Amino acid sequence: MIRLILLGGPGSGKGTQADRMKERYKAVKISTGDLLREEIRRESELGRRARQFMDKGELVPDDIMIGILDKITQKFESRKQSYILDGFPRTLPQAEALLEMLKKQEVALSSALLIDVPESELVRRLSSRWTCKNCGATVGYPDGKPRHAVCGQCGGELYQRDDDKKETILNRLKVYRKNTEPLIRYFEEKGLLKRVNGFGDPDSIAAGIAEILEHLPRT
Ligand SMILES: [Zn+2]
Repeated sequence: MIRLILLGGPGSGKGTQADRMKERYKAVKISTGDLLREEIRRESELGRRARQFMDKGELVPDDIMIGILDKITQKFESRKQSYILDGFPRTLPQAEALLEMLKKQEVALSSALLIDVPESELVRRLSSRWTCKNCGATVGYPDGKPRHAVCGQCGGELYQRDDDKKETILNRLKVYRKNTEPLIRYFEEKGLLKRVNGFGDPDSIAAGIAEILEHLPRT
């Protein structure tokens, strides 16, 4: 089975590739946000503890998140079900705690796979989105300026949401870089980091990922 961490900036196409890998490798995509909501809904011990922090507007501590992940991954181990972690770990302490958790399970992470896209390309992709004021439809103009001033669906005026503006995007990327660079170095030192070229169309990126996964040790 494969135990994978997926890393990549906003706009890297990480979600799309995770979905493709799910099909190709019969893997489960683990979203810690979904898991957390499920624990809270079921009012499990971990869910109740998590809730105490969330009710105060605080972040859920890493040990609770790891507790939740430990539970679900052990279930997957017993079924020999491959899994992909998307959106976790986000920080170095989380990465360390995760590897510690796997060590206790006496299993090994297959790889931390980084979808590598140059920052200028991420900015181009992220800032290409325009939204219709009238119907909310979105349209991508990769050169940054809309070719048409109005919405193709309804003729409404197109505008750029604050989230999609260059300044906001540069800030998001700065935060991403600050959190992720130590993670990348950490997995690199552990010999677990694999980089896939994320510049190109989804098919060629998927082929690059397949090539890497082919050569990973299966346990
Ligand atoms: Zn419209």
